[in-house]
Amino acid sequence: MDFKLTKEELELKEYYEDFFADAMKEAPTIFKHGGGFEATYSDDEGFAFHQKMAKIMGEKGMLSLPWPKGLGGSEASIMHQLIFNEAREVSRCPGYDFIGCGMFAPSLLAFANDDQKARLLPPIANGDVQYCQGWSEPDAGSDLASLTSTAEKVDDEHWVINGQKVWTTAAHRSDCMFILVRTDPNSSGSKGLSVFHLDMNTPGIEVRPLYYMNGSHVYNEVFLKDVKVYDKDLIGDEGNGWQVTLATMTFERSGMGFFSTGRLVMNRIIEYVKNTKRNGKLLSENATIRQEIAKIYAGLEAGTMMAYRVGSIQAKGDYMGAASVASESKIFGTEFSKHIFDFATKVLGLYGMIEEGDATPLLNVVEEYQCAPGLTIAGGSNEIQRCIISWMAPLSMPRWKLMDPAAMKK
Ligand SMILES: Cc1cc2nc3c(=O)[nH]c(=O)nc-3n(C[C@H](O)[C@H](O)[C@H](O)COP(=O)(O)OP(=O)(O)OC[C@H]3O[C@@H](n4cnc5c(N)ncnc54)[C@H](O)[C@@H]3O)c2cc1C
Repeated sequence: MDFKLTKEELELKEYYEDFFADAMKEAPTIFKHGGGFEATYSDDEGFAFHQKMAKIMGEKGMLSLPWPKGLGGSEASIMHQLIFNEAREVSRCPGYDFIGCGMFAPSLLAFANDDQKARLLPPIANGDVQYCQGWSEPDAGSDLASLTSTAEKVDDEHWVINGQKVWTTAAHRSDCMFILVRTDPNSSGSKGLSVFHLDMNTPGIEVRPLYYMNGSHVYNEVFLKDVKVYDKDLIGDEGNGWQVTLATMTFERSGMGFFSTGRLVMNRIIEYVKNTKRNGKLLSENATIRQEIAKIYAGLEAGTMMAYRVGSIQAKGDYMGAASVASESKIFGTEFSKHIFDFATKVLGLYGMIEEGDATPLLNVVEEYQCAPGLTIAGGSNEIQRCIISWMAPLSMPRWKLMDPAAMKK
């Protein structure tokens, strides 16, 4: 099998790499030292640059590449999207709302009615809105289907939401949320759940910060008290929210971002070891370092292929089929990332501990290093991903019986 890019694909790659390299010349200093979630969502200047880039990318059609032409997209091939994603992630350029563009838009394309597509897709394509994902609750994370936030239908046009969400990435910067709630009060588990599009300016929504130890603000708790949401913003059929959510999960887990970020860090580490001497010898002459870099390179190549595989299965509309492959990619990507950033931090020595400043020789690996463990939990913990792989074809092993916490205490 030939995995090389075609001439057209190589041209596309060069186009996107040049576009993002140019864009990053204007980036605020915080992005020059690495970027990432902290730069985008915690820092005001960083978020303003994210919004500016979203508009520019929207004008160029970059936020809606795979969508049907009739809905403002360009029906770009899966390879085109992957090339775009890789170039963008390697450049660390913000502007792509991974929640709105990456998760909610594909879910809308699969499940929304024509009116919802006409209303909700254009602002995403134009880079006008920031989304957050309202799934997890204080007592519902891995077992998401046990969530207790409710939506009650109060008249033909409205529902009223009550409950609490937690770990909501970027909620304090968001215009909208896609929220999973229980619409059938007599239901339990994955039945009786529904997904709504919710305007974050609706009265009754309170966003409270969950700060990093260093004071950065990326995550939040969201409290919802008698929040009115429109019936026309119910996505998919009432009670069918779990099917919508399962599909959205596969969009979240394709894993390309882990491998692109890993590649960026490794490319810079390779430059560093080629140009840095310790004890009179170039680091690149150190056999242990060379072997580790070679191992990581091979892992990144394999991981990128895994992410491409998820994309190609999704492109055929087989969301359930993509689920276990997406879980494989998510586990490998997050665990491999921990290894890469740990190695990078060690190779950089004291520089590996500097967050920002002129003395930082490469990029800020501190944030990547500190965030990596959390990514094994975000988007569904890796233990749960392993359960999914074991249940689904080709392994098809029996599903677990959920433990009763009371029984566990006995
Ligand atoms: C960085 C980050 C960003 C996030 N962003 C968002 C967001 O934007 N929106 C959102 O809705 N949520 C978000 N989350 C929440 C995330 O989805 C949950 O943290 C995750 O699903 C795990 O749930 P929990 O934290 O309740 O842990 P728990 O479910 O309580 O799990 C605790 C531990 O027990 C293990 N465990 C639980 N059940 C089993 C089992 N049956 N078998 C084996 N092991 C098990 C888990 O693997 C984990 O190690 C984010 C989380 C993080 C860390």
